[in-house]
Amino acid sequence: MPPAKTSYVCIPCRASYKQPRPGPHDHPRKCPRCTALLTHVGSAFAPPRRRDKAAWRTLSVLLHAGISFPMGCSTGPGYRPRTLAEVRERMAHARRTGEPPARALVRREVPYNRW
Ligand SMILES: [Zn+2]
Repeated sequence: MPPAKTSYVCIPCRASYKQPRPGPHDHPRKCPRCTALLTHVGSAFAPPRRRDKAAWRTLSVLLHAGISFPMGCSTGPGYRPRTLAEVRERMAHARRTGEPPARALVRREVPYNRW
């Protein structure tokens, strides 16, 4: 059974909220701090510390690429980059090869590329 709670984030506030999963008649959820719309990130999400701005920037790149953190039946969400360096490496790979960013960003390994 999937977990009853899932996580939402507000990127501008660098805040994460555990909330009940969206149901069939879900409505947009708002940040209690700033009232901006929250982004659903999934139940396997582990929030960075609020003062870790680089980690929140990394997260914002992932969310813009459409990547979230769903909890599988027996597994976590799979690899997600945690630093901007890891993001840059994977975005460079996407540009070089034409791989869609949403796929390149969740690669555990970036193939070595000879220039
Ligand atoms: Zn907010």
